[in-house]
Amino acid sequence: PSCAPPVPRPRCGCGGPHPPPPPPPARPPPPPPPRGGGARAGAAPPAGGGRPPAALPETGPEELATLARTFNEMAGQVQALLANRTTLLAGISHDLRTPLARMRIGLEMLGEKSDEKAVEKAVARLTRDVEEMNRLIGEFLTFARGLEKEAPQDTDLCAMLRELADKAALEGGAVELRPGASCVRPVGPLALRRILENLIGNAVRYGAGHPVEIECTCGEDETAIRVLDRGPGIPPEEAENVFRPFYRLESSRSVATGGSGLGLAIAQQLAHANGWRIALLPRAGGGTEARLTLPGGQGGAQTR
Ligand code: ATP
Ligand code: MG
Repeated sequence: PSCAPPVPRPRCGCGGPHPPPPPPPARPPPPPPPRGGGARAGAAPPAGGGRPPAALPETGPEELATLARTFNEMAGQVQALLANRTTLLAGISHDLRTPLARMRIGLEMLGEKSDEKAVEKAVARLTRDVEEMNRLIGEFLTFARGLEKEAPQDTDLCAMLRELADKAALEGGAVELRPGASCVRPVGPLALRRILENLIGNAVRYGAGHPVEIECTCGEDETAIRVLDRGPGIPPEEAENVFRPFYRLESSRSVATGGSGLGLAIAQQLAHANGWRIALLPRAGGGTEARLTLPGGQGGAQTR
C-alpha cells in the first residue's frame, strides 16, 4: 500500500483553476516476503476469529517450519474440539425433542380426560418421559466430560444388541437378531449404544416395514456389526452425504417419517472419536447394510 501523502482534491462547486497534482514520488517495490512467511503472518487473523486457518507451509528455515507445524497441529485440535462440542449440543437438543413432543401431546390430552384411570395412565406416561429426559441429560453430562475419554469397559456386544433389539421391538419395529456367541470388547459403552441405536432406528424407520436383521461377527482382527434392512436403499452417490448434519434424502423428507437428519452425523463423530468405522452399503437383493467395524483386539478384546 502506498504511503504517499493524500493528494489535495478540489472542493466541490468552487469552479476555480487548480494547479495539477504533483506526480507521486517514485518508490522502490517492497521486498518480497520470505518464502511462506506471508502465509504464516496471514494465518493468525482467521484463527483468532474462530475460523479454520489454511494449513501453513511447513517449509523454510528450521525454526519457522517447526513453528508452522506446531501452529497447524494446534489449529487442527481446536477445530476438532469445536466440532465435537457443536455435535454434542446438537445431539442434546435432538434427543430431548422426542420426549418433549410426547409430553406436550400428553398434557394437551390430559385436560380432556375425565376418568381417574385414564388420568393415572397419562401421568405415568409423563413421569416416564421425565425420567427418560433425566437419563439423557445424565448421559450427555458424562459424555461432555470428554468425548474421547469415555473409559472403555468390557462390554458384551451381543447382550447390548439384544437389549436394543428388544427396545426397538417394544416401539413397534420388527427386529431379528441373529444369535451369536457373546462377544466381549473393551469399548466406550455410551458411544457404542448411541451409534447402534441410530443405525437400528434408521433401519426400522426407512426399512419399508420389513423386518430388520442384525448380525455380529466377533473376529480376532475386527468386530463387525451389520444392521440390514429391505428399504429403498441409499444411492451410492449419497452414501457419504447422509452423514452430513441435517442432510436427508428427498424420499424420506416426509412428516410421517420425520427425523432431523442428525443421527448419522452424531454416529459418525462418535465412531471417529473411538477409531471405529461406519459404512452404508447397498444390500444384495435390495435395501441397506449399515456396517459398524471395530478394530479387533482393542486393549485385550476377548471372545467367549
Ligand atoms: P434423525 O436425526 O432422527 O436420525 P434422520 O434419520 O433423518 O433423522 P440420519 O439418521 O442422519 O437422519 O439419516 C440421514 C438420512 O439418510 C435420512 O433422512 C435418510 O434419508 C437416509 N437414510 C439413513 N439410513 C437409511 C436407511 N437405512 N435406508 C434408507 N435411507 C436411509
Ligand atoms: Mg436417523
